[in-house]
Amino acid sequence: MGLFSRRKTIFVDSDILVIGGGMAGCGATYESRYWGRDLNIVCVEKANIERSGAVAQGLYAINCYMGMQWDENQPEDHVRYARNDLMGLVREDLGYDIARHVDATVHKFEEWGLPMMKDPKTGRYLREGKWQIMIHGESYKPIVAEAARKAATEIYNRIMITHLLMDKSKANRVSGAVGFNVRTGEFYVFRAKAVIVCAGGASHIFKPRAVGEGMGRTWYAPWSSASAYALPILAGAKMTQMENRIVLTRFKDGYGPVGAYFLHLKTYTENAYGNEYETTWYEHTKEIVGDYVDRHPVPTCLRNHAFLEEVKAGRGPIRMVTKEAFQDPHLETVGWENFLGMTIAQAVVWASQNIDPKHINRSSPRPSLTSWVPTPPAPAPGPADPRTTPHRNTSGATTA
Ligand SMILES: Cc1cc2nc3c(=O)[nH]c(=O)nc-3n(C[C@H](O)[C@H](O)[C@H](O)COP(=O)(O)OP(=O)(O)OC[C@H]3O[C@@H](n4cnc5c(N)ncnc54)[C@H](O)[C@@H]3O)c2cc1C
Repeated sequence: MGLFSRRKTIFVDSDILVIGGGMAGCGATYESRYWGRDLNIVCVEKANIERSGAVAQGLYAINCYMGMQWDENQPEDHVRYARNDLMGLVREDLGYDIARHVDATVHKFEEWGLPMMKDPKTGRYLREGKWQIMIHGESYKPIVAEAARKAATEIYNRIMITHLLMDKSKANRVSGAVGFNVRTGEFYVFRAKAVIVCAGGASHIFKPRAVGEGMGRTWYAPWSSASAYALPILAGAKMTQMENRIVLTRFKDGYGPVGAYFLHLKTYTENAYGNEYETTWYEHTKEIVGDYVDRHPVPTCLRNHAFLEEVKAGRGPIRMVTKEAFQDPHLETVGWENFLGMTIAQAVVWASQNIDPKHINRSSPRPSLTSWVPTPPAPAPGPADPRTTPHRNTSGATTA
């Protein structure tokens, strides 16, 4: 008792309470103001919205942009893509709704000052893949945070929300939340007419296999501690749409992102013996999932499956072939910038181990974004000419 007896309890009332001030929370705060001009809107964040959440790590792409203004893609194309990639386990209505709004959101980011990479010939946003566009991500979060700050009645930084509050008079209705200031220990009681939980994802559910330098490292944000799941579950919510979990294989030790490498630099993967391996698992996978294996792009989980089966068969680690792309000085620069802007640790690990991806292919990236060509299994160990393998980086799979 002594520890808490001198701490203050602070009560805050609002119409709308947004929990978590990452990308979704800042967006929810901005939209709440748009739809509720006179409402009292409060956003509460355990860090500081200026640099909180996964986007603040620095990104190099906006992973979803239709390009409807240039008729590049329409929302229904994205629904078809997502339905295929997730092998039918999608809420198509929600996917469609997100897709039809996403372009307008991206245009707002540009209006607010986010530097977008443009194709000098066409003037259009520079594409990394079918769905992704490239940005200079360093300023992304502060720009979006500024919009949220201007929209909110009040932002409370450094408050960790621990529980939702239920309404005493209305069953099953959430009416607020409680938490504490992580610096002062002050206790906060937020009372609200509506609560939006935007507290991010969940890292560290699975233990990475990396040892040594890479032990305990994850690509995804370590502060994503699953509040977005825990808070509603503790209040009795039923979780739905949880069939798909995204578990990404990344570069070993530094956990650098691989999306721009596959999509923009057109790199691909091979097994420890320098062989293409996805075709080895074609018949096996077809037996399990039928013609999904023949689709284009091949669903991400099936490419992951081939990757894991190859490792289980003793032909790991899987390496990304960086040597070819890095011969082009422009692509080499893009490759390094990608890490320096997003996961500096990856560049540091490579530099400290005297690894130059121009000369050495790097191990254990995520499965390549290739189309699956049904040819006989590749022969066991032996050198292979990567130029004769069936890799084609034409997939539009979501990446980062
Ligand atoms: C390294 C990396 C690279 C990426 N690259 C790309 C990319 O290139 N393109 C792309 O489109 N996407 C990319 N992503 C994904 C993208 O960043 C996320 O999908 C997005 O930021 C998720 O936003 P969010 O608001 O749902 O969660 P978050 O941004 O994680 O925000 C959640 C917020 O809630 C706060 N919070 C959590 N728990 C509590 C609590 N109990 N109380 C109060 N506050 C709490 C957190 O501090 C955080 O600020 C990348 C992610 C990472 C980690």
